[in-house]
Amino acid sequence: MNDGPKVLLVEDDAGLASMLRELLLGEGYEVVLAADGQRALHEGLSQHFDLLLMDRGLPAIEGLDVLGRLRNKGISTPALILSALSNPADRVEGLDRGAEDYLGKPFDIDELLARLRSLLRRHSTHADAVPVPGGMLDINGRTVTLGSGAEVVLSERESGLLAHLGRRPRQIFTREALRTAVFPDADDDGVVDTYVHYLRKKLGRTSVLTVRGMGYRLGELR
Ligand code: CA
Repeated sequence: MNDGPKVLLVEDDAGLASMLRELLLGEGYEVVLAADGQRALHEGLSQHFDLLLMDRGLPAIEGLDVLGRLRNKGISTPALILSALSNPADRVEGLDRGAEDYLGKPFDIDELLARLRSLLRRHSTHADAVPVPGGMLDINGRTVTLGSGAEVVLSERESGLLAHLGRRPRQIFTREALRTAVFPDADDDGVVDTYVHYLRKKLGRTSVLTVRGMGYRLGELR
């Protein structure tokens, strides 16, 4: 099992994709490769990533359109665009449309790796404290401190589920995605419903919202 940062690598050039994949694996990243825009959109909407590394010129959906659609769904994963379109106007367009960083092709490998590390540092999704409805979750302490100062102690699994929802507060997760991410040893999505029920009992009915026909998301932060 790989605990390194998880990267969605979006690149349609098979040779370059393979090189980048090996490079990232060698640096300890977990890599999911998407070779076209449709695939990238699907992966980006169904799994949690720590970084997006995206080409622009892609089959099916152009890279910046993929990024825009992910952003419209509330997915704020930091994105680095890696593109042959790299004059200043191209870079400005990429940054304006939701990318955090932009690197032209051809690129220097060490510079690419340094920029990815920098993005991870600036947008760490492994913060120890995550805002949740009504309070703040301390992930290590498995405790929610409510606005009143009262503390609610969670089990490890309750805390894990709430942390996963809380790191992407606007994202809708399918039950299957939550089971895979939080309860990898379970083989029935019902485990997700069970722990949502426990969280609601401890933190209130609206702490986790049901999105009909889709799954769950974190309740509204106030
Ligand atoms: Ca391309």
